[in-house]
Amino acid sequence: MKTIIEPFRIKSVEPIRVTTKEERGTLIQNAGYNLFNLHSDDVMIDLLTDSGTSAMSAAQWSGIMQGDESYAGSPSFYRFERAVKDLMPFKHVIPTHQGRAAEKILFTIAAGSGTKVPSNTHFDTTRANVEMAGAEPVDLVIAEGKQPESEHPFKGNMDLEALDTLLTAERERIPIVMLTITNNTGGGQPVSMENMRGVREICSRHKVPLFFDACRFAENAYLIKTREPGYAETSVPEIVREIFSLADGMTMSAKKDAFVNIGGWLALNDDDWAEQARNMLILTEGFPTYGGLAGRDLEAIAIGLQEIVDEDYLRYRMASMQYLGNALTQMGVPIVKPVGGHAVYIDARSLLPHIPPLSYPGQSLAVALYEEGGIRACEIGTVMFGKQADGSEKAAPLDLVRLAVPRRVYTQSHVDYVIECVENLVARKDELPGYRIEWQPRFLRHFTARFTQER
Ligand SMILES: *Cc1c(COP(=O)(O)O)cnc(C)c1O
Repeated sequence: MKTIIEPFRIKSVEPIRVTTKEERGTLIQNAGYNLFNLHSDDVMIDLLTDSGTSAMSAAQWSGIMQGDESYAGSPSFYRFERAVKDLMPFKHVIPTHQGRAAEKILFTIAAGSGTKVPSNTHFDTTRANVEMAGAEPVDLVIAEGKQPESEHPFKGNMDLEALDTLLTAERERIPIVMLTITNNTGGGQPVSMENMRGVREICSRHKVPLFFDACRFAENAYLIKTREPGYAETSVPEIVREIFSLADGMTMSAKKDAFVNIGGWLALNDDDWAEQARNMLILTEGFPTYGGLAGRDLEAIAIGLQEIVDEDYLRYRMASMQYLGNALTQMGVPIVKPVGGHAVYIDARSLLPHIPPLSYPGQSLAVALYEEGGIRACEIGTVMFGKQADGSEKAAPLDLVRLAVPRRVYTQSHVDYVIECVENLVARKDELPGYRIEWQPRFLRHFTARFTQER
């Protein structure tokens, strides 16, 4: 069959409020042309993020009712721990309220002032937590990982030579190596098993622990199955176990590949680090058998982890990303290639050459998508990265607009609607205006800045 269906039925629905173009024009103007300032019930298709926005299954909702809220020793914790260890056989599993809490604990223990932490590309919360610990984050993704048009199947791979050179020169300054699977900041691009093995070998040779930032491990495993020679016949759970057999530990945001709205964990083998981590957990999150979560959340994660490695689900997930990416490519819209696991990234700078980077082509496209169809996407470009430490402005390397797709939430007709909106915009793309920033905060300006149109 050519048609790959959503492998689920809908039992419970959330109405979408249908708005008019006129209404949306007023709403976005009042929001200072910043999509983060919109009320989400004024959005029709919300592609701002895939984080914490998954639809839970009937089984997960029944798990919520089974949650045991005992302060210590809850059976929900043991079910959660078993589900994690079934896929990621680490000795210690420490629940946190989300991924960044696991990162905060890990880097407080592992990284200190003057150290360096290499990764393929650090995600922004990971980078910030490395820096908070006084350490320096170092990104060592392969060159193809920075070229939007490159069709390399594993653009999240680490540059092994660069890692080896860094470790040879500065081993004593490097307490830990990270690998982000999939590489979120690089466009949701996967890391190959061969590359993970290479990183493992280098880490073992230099005796440095290797941790995975594993938020989208199942999407990465499925992309290994479909793109890497030798894995077509291996089941996804087996690929997942092979991945984690290469690491000494992991951080996880369950808001991604565990199908829940909140949660995360830190898992590791080292007893000494685990003891330190639990001590910190008690200070900042909670007792070790619930961490930052309620018993019901732990139940939902345990069930979500079984559902996420289902190959019918993953085939549908990747097919729906491909479907969106192919349709945009066919109408001549430049996107980051190949399409990664959780989002399609439009190259707004190439699409809108009449808008210079310092007039924010990504913001222009994102605002126009909202006005046209009530779609909320996310600018990842000069608005997000252009402000320099000295207050000046510089063009980011790329001006992208990310269409991140929540898991199990939207149907194919929602995606068709998104495609039609982009088509309408492309027809009048030369009319889209640039933007100026009217007000901005000191840090992380993309969340709260207010814009005006350059007309
Ligand atoms: C989301 C994310 C995190 C942080 O997780 P939160 O649950 O949002 O704190 C870390 N790394 C990557 C790759 C992510 O995508």
